[in-house]
Amino acid sequence: MVAIDGLPPLREVIRDHDLVAKKALGQNFLLDLNLTAKIARAAGDLHGCDVLEVGPGPGGLTRGLLAEGARRVLAVEKDPRCLPALAEIAAHYPGRLEVIEGDALAIDVRAHLTPPIRIAANLPYNVGTELLIRWLTPPEWPPFWQSLTLMFQKEVAERIVAKPGTNHYGRLALLAQWRAEAKIVMVLPPEAFTPAPKVHSAVVHLTALPEPRFPADPKVLERVVAAGFNQRRKMLRQALKGLHPRIEAMLEEAGIAPTERAERVSLEEFCRLARILAAG
Ligand code: SAM
Repeated sequence: MVAIDGLPPLREVIRDHDLVAKKALGQNFLLDLNLTAKIARAAGDLHGCDVLEVGPGPGGLTRGLLAEGARRVLAVEKDPRCLPALAEIAAHYPGRLEVIEGDALAIDVRAHLTPPIRIAANLPYNVGTELLIRWLTPPEWPPFWQSLTLMFQKEVAERIVAKPGTNHYGRLALLAQWRAEAKIVMVLPPEAFTPAPKVHSAVVHLTALPEPRFPADPKVLERVVAAGFNQRRKMLRQALKGLHPRIEAMLEEAGIAPTERAERVSLEEFCRLARILAAG
């Protein structure tokens, strides 16, 4: 039997290559090619783009990205057991799939990619969050990527798109929304994966803005936001007191009440405070 793209169905691929899911690698596979094509479409128009996929596994999303017209896919996979299955996909789409075996956290892949570049991944949540933060915090903007389309646990996705004053608002929301447009484009039940995880998942699509919404030095902003949300229940004059001896006056200058808590402070206010701190 063949699937819509002329390759074997993913269940057969997993059986034939004996890809028993490993918990330590966060392996929850997507086996429905209609669903992976839908995720690939959520990544935007892939024609003429290089796509970086992290954690292709048996290749469900990889096949979606290629079928939806990606010029090239560069896939980084840590589990060597997946490489033969990925080699079959590469043979089916000559010259369009390059696979690198290794840890995406340790490899700089930029030399393998030609702009415009989009990134798409269904990753274990801890690796995904770490990579997201790295992709969002380069010193220069715009970044090397145009968009990120990433699967997370639904609760993490909610933290990325959260607005001030809500439970999920914090460091992730501020870093994501400062220099990108972030939205949840799909929510998936546990049964969409094999094996099924315990919680719902969601796909977040982030588009890089041409420039940050408000000016600020990335390092100073990160420091302020990290300190503010590290002790999110404390008043800001307390939570930020290690940053500067005159922090209370600086908060006032930024138009933020020193008794306020980080979760009620907007992105614009955090950026203003970061500029005042940077000026000294
Ligand atoms: N993309 C496939 C899919 O949607 O069915 C697999 C998704 S599975 C949730 C996560 C994949 O990421 C696994 O194939 C796993 O081996 C791989 N992985 C885990 N940690 C990784 C890392 N640090 N670098 C690269 N790949 C990693």
